[in-house]
Amino acid sequence: RLFYDRMNQAIARSRRRKTNAALLFVDLDRFKHINDTLGHEIGDLLLKEVANRLAGSLRDIDTVCRLAGDEFVVLLTDIAEVGDAAVAAQRIIDSLSAPYMLKGHELSVTISMGISVFPSDGQEGGFLLEKADIAMYRAKTLGRSGFEFYKDDMSLDAHQRLGLEHELERALERGEFRIFYQPIVSMESGKVFGVEALVRWEHPERGLLSPADFIKVADQSGLLVPIGLKVLEESCAQAVKWQEWRGPDLPLAVSVNLSATQLKHPDLASEVTRILRNTGLEASNLVLEVSEGTIVEDVQSASAILERLKSLGVRLGMDDFGTGYSRLLDLNRLPVDFLKIDHSLVGGLEGDREKMAMAAATVALAHALGLRAIAEGVETSQQLGHLRGLGCDLAQGHYLGEALLPDVAERTISFIDRYFP
Ligand code: C2E
Ligand code: MG
Ligand code: MG
Repeated sequence: RLFYDRMNQAIARSRRRKTNAALLFVDLDRFKHINDTLGHEIGDLLLKEVANRLAGSLRDIDTVCRLAGDEFVVLLTDIAEVGDAAVAAQRIIDSLSAPYMLKGHELSVTISMGISVFPSDGQEGGFLLEKADIAMYRAKTLGRSGFEFYKDDMSLDAHQRLGLEHELERALERGEFRIFYQPIVSMESGKVFGVEALVRWEHPERGLLSPADFIKVADQSGLLVPIGLKVLEESCAQAVKWQEWRGPDLPLAVSVNLSATQLKHPDLASEVTRILRNTGLEASNLVLEVSEGTIVEDVQSASAILERLKSLGVRLGMDDFGTGYSRLLDLNRLPVDFLKIDHSLVGGLEGDREKMAMAAATVALAHALGLRAIAEGVETSQQLGHLRGLGCDLAQGHYLGEALLPDVAERTISFIDRYFP
């Protein structure tokens, strides 16, 4: 309440003196993770220390307030120009980024900050706070430890997001998600090794939407968890049908993608267990794909979760490899079975010596670590030929087959089984 009062005073004063005021919305990145792993006592101490540092990096006339949880707001009054807010923001980031010593734990945190300015972004405190929050959100999605000034198009984004979230909720209730299956082919046997389950949204007005149009918002709003469970459930059930159809000599693996949020969800392992039991799919026929970027974000906790999943008997793949800057030493410790070479390394492989060398190195790396390499996004017979020449184990891409609904996918699978070159 004091903060709102100060904010209104500052606005009134700025209006009178024709100066600016700025609102800085500060949010700690991954505070929940710190709380979860080191405990609430350390979490509390961290918040206190953050508050001290915030107060210490401001002038006497500025106000700092803890709004909720790990959210702080800073009010800069009587600033001459907007650039001064940027200087203050950077000073705060520098101060908060220095290591923390808390009960023998050395911690470092990064923060995301959004800034709104009076009078250009709004005339009223509540609006300014909302806009600083929107800008903070943008800062977070752009990467860690930085600040963003509010811009009008962000608001539109926020508005559209909200609409999309509501639509996604409704789509989940109405069952508008469809799973398409793309074959993954063994280079050695020429048989289909498995399929990757790829979700699509059959939107009542906009038609079939690809994951690029909705996965990110679904993920950020938490909706990808229930959507993902449906994908897992349905594709495991489908895989069981295909096992029966192809017979015991030709098992068919089904690969399902997991986002960072899905991976971190505390119920994941128990849900996977439940789904395997209910559908009767053998655990080894399920491959869970996690992208390299998700893993490097927090190798330690990812590795613990992957170990837990691995103990259920499922297999694991590192997706989009080559885009996430893995430490090779970490890679060696992760319990993954497959390395999926990102399509950006596969596309245009023919006639590009550097890409060829990188693909060759990736296949060699996979093999050195005892993993199988899967090339994704194979679009031409030349690419397929080169990859085979490099010893790449498995391939997936439009050249072999697109992602298709079960009936059509089944025809493609039997076609490849019979005629793969
Ligand atoms: P991903 O897991 O790397 O999937 C491969 C993507 O490459 C798919 O795009 C696939 O359709 C596309 N692709 C396959 N072959 C070719 C090719 O020859 N050329 C080109 N240009 N593209 C090819 P899609 O289906 O749009 O999926 C995009 C991403 O969305 C996936 O990338 C995955 O990260 C995510 N995704 C899809 N379904 C799910 C899901 O059920 N859950 C989660 N968490 N993520 C999903
Ligand atoms: Mg994938
Ligand atoms: Mg991929």
